[in-house]
Amino acid sequence: MKNLEELLKQETFSDEEIAYLLGLTGTDECNQLRTAAYDLTTELLGTEVYYRGIVEFSNLCELDCHYCGIRNGNDEVERYSLTQEQVVDAALWCGEVGYGSTVLQSGERHSPEYIDFVENSIREIKTKSISETLPEGLGITLSVGEQTLETYKRFHEAGAHRYLLRIETTNPELYAKIHPADQKLEERKKCLDYLREAGFQVGTGVMIGIPGQTIDMLVQDIRFFQSMDIDMIGMGPYISHHQSCMYDKSMMDVEPLLQLAFNMIAVVRLVLRDVNIAATTALQALLKNGREVGISYGANITMPNLTPREVRPSYQLYEGKPCIDEGRADCHGCLQKRVESVGRTVGWNKWGDSKHYMKKSL
Ligand code: SAM
Repeated sequence: MKNLEELLKQETFSDEEIAYLLGLTGTDECNQLRTAAYDLTTELLGTEVYYRGIVEFSNLCELDCHYCGIRNGNDEVERYSLTQEQVVDAALWCGEVGYGSTVLQSGERHSPEYIDFVENSIREIKTKSISETLPEGLGITLSVGEQTLETYKRFHEAGAHRYLLRIETTNPELYAKIHPADQKLEERKKCLDYLREAGFQVGTGVMIGIPGQTIDMLVQDIRFFQSMDIDMIGMGPYISHHQSCMYDKSMMDVEPLLQLAFNMIAVVRLVLRDVNIAATTALQALLKNGREVGISYGANITMPNLTPREVRPSYQLYEGKPCIDEGRADCHGCLQKRVESVGRTVGWNKWGDSKHYMKKSL
């Protein structure tokens, strides 16, 4: 293996090199990795971090993912669905304060009423958010799980143009362990193809530190992102939830888990280069400034929470989710300072689309 300084100058990496970088633990070495990823982000994407105000509009879910706090089988969680007016109001507020883009996320459902609800919400947000600062309205990212190709086409036609569907892990045995038998890895992969076909900028990602996951599996996850020509990445640490089926399975210790998650962001930046990478809320659940550290390791997207305060406690996918007792204005006040604390600026009133995607569509 070359020395680290030489390795970090490369533009392509072998599996062995990726595994070595992911496994770094020494303070100096991790700082070298961080600097290389941060500098590459600046070189390829500039200094701006883009906001996507996230509206978690319903915790009703038909699925039973073993790790998730809002899985269908959790009878202890209070279920809610926002009205269309509440969803549109939250999204429009984010446009008014300059965020440029919104993310609509919920548990997974397939009823015609639900599909209509999502489609109509997108249309209304799109029409009502057009302004002088946003002549094409808000950028809309969806995160509503596995749907049919026809449904994806309807959502895209209504005006959503980015979609996040995490593959969670690409290892078939691990995927089978953390999902019920009727939830198949192949189906999820097929949906990523459908999203591409429907015209979306396609985002995926994995949970990091799933019990039983190895560094080699994470290397293969990165290879999967490459082979699918993914445009956006959203990854975060696996954090246990006391009402999930995996609560007895051991979660990694916080310090090594965070380091692995930060290394994963940096290595994905070095390998995939010009994709958008989110500094996810789960990082902040483990470390107060986790999102800023994520940005310093090469992330360029952050997702302030716009979910109304009264329902936030019911959208706890994992334990310790931050800001559940705050409203959207509190997040707005503190986030800019956090972004600037790591030498970045906020890309106000911009969609901040994936450069990787834009290059392909030229
Ligand atoms: N239903 C949609 C879907 O499946 O894509 C979106 C909602 S789902 C709750 C959003 C993401 O939460 C999942 O992709 C998963 O990675 C993450 N998540 C759920 N439980 C988690 C946990 N215990 N720790 C970390 N992330 C978790």
